[in-house]
Amino acid sequence: MYAFADQLDADAVVQDFDICIVGAGAAGIAMAQRLANTSLRTLLLVSGQPSDRGVPDANRQALYQGTAGDFLQKVDPDFLRRSRLNMYGGTTNHFGFWARPLDRADTMPRPGYRDAGWPFDGGELRPYYIDAHEFGHFGPFNYDDMDFWERVLYARCFDPLPDDKLSGAIMRAQYEENLHDFQVQFRDQVKNASNITVLFNAHLLTLETDENQRHVTGLNCSTIESSAAGGARAGMPFKARARRYVLACGGIENVRLLQLSGELGNNKRDLLGRGFMVHPLLTNAAHVRFDAPVASDIRNFFREQQIRLKPPPSVGGEYQHMVAPLVNPELVFDYLMFNAWGVLAARHQTLLEERIGNFRIILYFGADAASAVVNLNWEQTPDEDSRITLNRDQVDPIFGQPVAHVDWRLNETDKRSAVRALEITLDYLRARGASQQEMITDVSGGAEEWTFLPEPGALETGDHHMGALRMSASPADGIVDINSRLHGVDNLYVAGSAVFPTGGYANPTLTIVALALRLADHLKAENGR
Ligand SMILES: Cc1cc2nc3c(=O)[nH]c(=O)nc-3n(C[C@H](O)[C@H](O)[C@H](O)COP(=O)(O)OP(=O)(O)OC[C@H]3O[C@@H](n4cnc5c(N)ncnc54)[C@H](O)[C@@H]3O)c2cc1C
Repeated sequence: MYAFADQLDADAVVQDFDICIVGAGAAGIAMAQRLANTSLRTLLLVSGQPSDRGVPDANRQALYQGTAGDFLQKVDPDFLRRSRLNMYGGTTNHFGFWARPLDRADTMPRPGYRDAGWPFDGGELRPYYIDAHEFGHFGPFNYDDMDFWERVLYARCFDPLPDDKLSGAIMRAQYEENLHDFQVQFRDQVKNASNITVLFNAHLLTLETDENQRHVTGLNCSTIESSAAGGARAGMPFKARARRYVLACGGIENVRLLQLSGELGNNKRDLLGRGFMVHPLLTNAAHVRFDAPVASDIRNFFREQQIRLKPPPSVGGEYQHMVAPLVNPELVFDYLMFNAWGVLAARHQTLLEERIGNFRIILYFGADAASAVVNLNWEQTPDEDSRITLNRDQVDPIFGQPVAHVDWRLNETDKRSAVRALEITLDYLRARGASQQEMITDVSGGAEEWTFLPEPGALETGDHHMGALRMSASPADGIVDINSRLHGVDNLYVAGSAVFPTGGYANPTLTIVALALRLADHLKAENGR
């Protein structure tokens, strides 16, 4: 059911819930969907309104203003406000749901490159990935079935050569707004669930704990009150109480809320907020020209295409690829429609030998079939100097709380990963006849020397916020445990990419959803005990 915090009595306490999920973006909505119609009385706090769609309310979005460290200031000064949305549905409102699971190897330590790894076997995520995949209406979970993709894309990757360091990999995307805006796709399911209360205009300010910070006792929240002049101010304060709490406020805000709540969850090594990572991106890193036009089926592999699949009549059957144009567009939802294309990605052996981060190369071929733009996105190391802190000299415009300061760093290892990724790619393409090659990004300098905007080939942040509350088996190494519960706090969990110990190159949301479903199942099981 829907409820509105502005209709509560002053200083009300909203209580009698088993679980309170704070934040209704990809992670929060995925959890609510999984918990719908179970016996768990669930409260979903939404810092937005039911009608939110596409563009956030400007006042609410202003809460996302923060400050950027020196390096981030050079790369993307507006990063904090631009790369996330404070509204119902969160940042799913402007994403295109590019999707791919992490490679299992991404979850394991890579000796000589990074010691970090996930505290459970990456294979454990597979059933959750399969369910997360349904959120994108992506059909079969078959990223490795190249025969299928060659048929469906009318394509093949470049022919393999001995000692290749790269191979083809598949990406998917979902641009249908009714699907990728999670608050739209799951609106009725969440609204009509007998056990879920969705509380709108409910903004978490701080978490309240017992004196040892071992147990969360309640949430201090407020509404936002709009003024006739178009401004906004803090509205009515209220508390929310539940047996267990889940922070699902996005990769930066989850950290800030713990910091605002007395550095809740920090450990002896002071790791709260440390190890912040993105997927750095060079959209226009290099240009290549092949000696002869590249065959159309190879170019097809790299071309983003709309795919239509008819699901099998029974579980385990084959998906039928629909090639005929749709005569009746109104029947479009009888089919699964999404986009798919191929990229070049590092082989696992390459990563081990080179001791570098995982990466993917997107090739954009020109109309002449012989020229291509090389686009690189890659994995960072979890570097503890790359961090989120509170900026106590600047406060948000509504509640007057310190804003987040993001001091994102790229270190020598990250730079080496990018340089080697480009060298390996250019070698791979040269061996296929791309003898003319021009670097657009200047990668000659030190770790923090790059080409910056507005120059072509500039470094970008990739908009994915990962790390900073990493998952670890031991409280000495991270902030949350193997079940996403804060080490040392018995009833507080985190959903979202802040818990990723490592990030691979895959866009994070499929993994965020998979982890959210895993956490929901864990809470269901825990409640039953
Ligand atoms: C332009 C762009 C394109 C992207 N494209 C892709 C893509 O193609 N594929 C992909 O995998 N990822 C993509 N991403 C990243 C993706 O959007 C995020 O990974 C994903 O939305 C994160 O989910 P989340 O639930 O953790 O956070 P969000 O979706 O940001 O949701 C956080 C929620 O918490 C709420 N909230 C925040 N603070 C509070 C508070 N104090 N109290 C109550 N509620 C609060 C917010 O209002 C919001 O609803 C893209 C990002 C951007 C910016």
